[in-house]
Amino acid sequence: MLADYAVRVEQSRGRRVAELQHPYRDDFQRDRDRVIHSRAFRRLEAKTQVFTRRFSDHFRNRLTHTIEVAQIARTIAAQLGLNVDLVEALALVHDVGHPPFGHAGEKALDAVMREYGLFFDHNLHALRIVEDFELRYAAFRGLNLTFEVREGIIKHSHDYSASEFPQLAEYLLDLRPPLEAQLIDLADEIAYDTADLDDGYEARLLALPQIRAGVPVFDRFYRQAEQTYPNAIEKLKFNEALKRILDRMVGDLIRNLQNQIKAAGISNLEDVRACPRRLAIFGSEVEEERRGAKEFLYQNLYFSTALNPEKDDAERVIRQLFEFWMAKPESLPRTYREKADQEPLPRVVCDYIAGMTDNFIYDQYERYCEAG
Ligand code: MG
Repeated sequence: MLADYAVRVEQSRGRRVAELQHPYRDDFQRDRDRVIHSRAFRRLEAKTQVFTRRFSDHFRNRLTHTIEVAQIARTIAAQLGLNVDLVEALALVHDVGHPPFGHAGEKALDAVMREYGLFFDHNLHALRIVEDFELRYAAFRGLNLTFEVREGIIKHSHDYSASEFPQLAEYLLDLRPPLEAQLIDLADEIAYDTADLDDGYEARLLALPQIRAGVPVFDRFYRQAEQTYPNAIEKLKFNEALKRILDRMVGDLIRNLQNQIKAAGISNLEDVRACPRRLAIFGSEVEEERRGAKEFLYQNLYFSTALNPEKDDAERVIRQLFEFWMAKPESLPRTYREKADQEPLPRVVCDYIAGMTDNFIYDQYERYCEAG
């Protein structure tokens, strides 16, 4: 049932370390399962997406966000005849490289690294996790994932230049990623645009009239919901409107990708790779709506002063712990002390911090930075 332009598991470029075939799971199914059973995946449960636990347990965390992305991406992939197992593996792994405290944590970690002439990038960190940090198998370090999953980790959301990142040369940086990887970035955006409106409303940081005025597509669907369910409570009409936005974005992406494939004359995976641009894009109308909704979320939610305490925590906790371990590397766990023999200390400290959950980093902060 796979389309001609889908990735075929039997044509995978394979794993770094050769393994015997499993009797009834193919390589992409095994990669998906390896991600699910990894420690980094379990830690997503205690990492902030936008709202910390301080707000409510009802809100998304990075794990539930990841599961929503996987649901959306699987639906799109199945409609297009893409490799659903590869898509699921890519969706489930797409956020494992994120540090604690959501985007504020990423910014803070990058800022301290830049003071040492280095930087932090969550896709590159995800690759380090699956290649090196996960220790689950006796035969190799990391998860020994197939080339296509590692390539997708690097290329799903960002084009890295070969001259700037020579260490990534094996990932065919001058070619586009397969559609299975391309659609992850958009499934991610569909998931968080709708979820953040929902959680922002539930957190009472966004009011209904404000959303209706600022996001015209929401207003349109809310009016429809009011006509269909005049007696429903506000939150249920809100849910109806949000559900229709999600459905509109998914439907548009499926249709538009089919159009793009036709227009570009794509008939196989090589054509997808050789195409000078990404094919997974929204149609112009929905793209306009997406941009508007995102702009609204930045102005009214992500930059909201109500989230400042979380941002201050991220900045203070990450910076102070980073500086503590730079000054006292003997306080790092043994495995990280050993790593410091082969890599610059700031990179080792960064790796350690990036892997932490929100809970664990607060514990460390209390232990090392607040004591005395
Ligand atoms: Mg994400």
